[in-house]
Amino acid sequence: MAFTVYNTLTKKRELFIPRQPDEVTLYTCGPTVYNYAHIGNLRAYVFEDLLKRVLLLNGYAVKHIMNITDVGHLTSDADEGEDKMTKGLRREKLPLTLEGMKILAEKYTNAFNADLKKLNIIPPTLQPKASEHVAENLKFISDLEKKGFTYRTSDGVYFDTSKVKDYGKLAPTYQEAEEHARIKKGEKKHPRDFALWKFNKDLGWDAPWGRGFPGWHIECSVMASKYLGKQFDIHCGGKEHIPVHHTNEIAQSEAAWGKKPWVKYWLHHEWLELGGEKMAKSGENFITLSTLEEKGFHPLDFRYLCLGTHYRKPLMFSYEALEGARQARRRLVERYLQLKKSTKGHKKVRLEYWERFIADVNDDLNTPKALATMWDMLHDDDVKEYEKYSLLLRFDAVLGLHLKEEKPQVEKIPAAVMQLAKERLEARKRQDWKKADQLREEIRKLGYIVGDTKEGYELMKG
Ligand code: AMP
Ligand code: ZN
Repeated sequence: MAFTVYNTLTKKRELFIPRQPDEVTLYTCGPTVYNYAHIGNLRAYVFEDLLKRVLLLNGYAVKHIMNITDVGHLTSDADEGEDKMTKGLRREKLPLTLEGMKILAEKYTNAFNADLKKLNIIPPTLQPKASEHVAENLKFISDLEKKGFTYRTSDGVYFDTSKVKDYGKLAPTYQEAEEHARIKKGEKKHPRDFALWKFNKDLGWDAPWGRGFPGWHIECSVMASKYLGKQFDIHCGGKEHIPVHHTNEIAQSEAAWGKKPWVKYWLHHEWLELGGEKMAKSGENFITLSTLEEKGFHPLDFRYLCLGTHYRKPLMFSYEALEGARQARRRLVERYLQLKKSTKGHKKVRLEYWERFIADVNDDLNTPKALATMWDMLHDDDVKEYEKYSLLLRFDAVLGLHLKEEKPQVEKIPAAVMQLAKERLEARKRQDWKKADQLREEIRKLGYIVGDTKEGYELMKG
């Protein structure tokens, strides 16, 4: 079935056709590891995980690179302000050295990967670090210099955007051009020119132009092409990257390697917002996955919430919305546990709902529609229980709600929960549904989900 995506580069919906028939090369901008990831960042990685799962569903192998920015990202995406890692070192009272940077990066990279795991995100093929690719960056800058694309100022080596005829092709809208023109010019020939190398006597690496560290955009160009080739299939990131970061990645990569297009499909997600504003690491409205867990939510409640909004629409975060996602996910797990126990053997499954589901996700990752298809299937009395079970597992390979892997943890369940579950079973036997529902609620309040099975019940954490 045809997989179509919205390509920011061409500004239209397109049929997805990778460069190689069986393998997709995918690059996603990774975290700047100077602080914990917030749930806005995590929306990005849930979206990219969905994309990857849909590519797998369509039969492609996926080579996925996600970088770790552990140097070079300034507080403004446009080369201004302080280095974010330096800011992190100061905050944590670590030495302002490369060694200190390494300690800081390791701490937040580990925390980040733990979050990905909790969200059931498939790990990337490789997670290269910017700080380990400085030699490649230096070579890249030298190549651009030889080709006449660079110039020096007192604070670094800059890319001369006037040398690129189609500069800005990713974001040629009036507003974005305006926004970009506001970037301070300083000694630059044009405000849009950007740093390839920033001088810094205290912190950094030796280079032919002077000691310093690489610019932020360069690391993505260098690492993407080192591992995926001079041209590759898909590049993802948040929509704020369109006018600056990704525009500059394209300009320097196509200049250095002389091949167009550097990337065939550009996919950008919308932001997660709180109180009408983008959630940002530098802002005050900063919520982490741990905050949600402390409030009693399961990380997969957040994944379910993300699935309910299309990736190109803003996700307005609220605890009420998250509570809604929690209720829906719990109902789903309860239903799954029921179906799991009632189905034995391998019988043929009718595939109408499966085809509908594939059409939904292949339609530019329409997960809200795919969730609706899933619930329609579960509510359809004409679909047999064993079919529902089989279909649900297929759907979950894409949705990633971790149903199959969820093992009921009977041995770890507290006695109070076990007691309530037993009382509930008795109530069900008496057909006292009101009491049974009331006990289900009590069990939920203690953080467990009860699923009805032929033999009795099954409990799991939720
Ligand atoms: P950073 O760690 O800030 O470099 O960002 C990592 C990823 O998170 C990038 O793809 C950003 O576009 C994305 N991102 C940052 N803030 C948000 C947000 N509020 N909503 C969605 N994505 C975001
Ligand atoms: Zn990037």
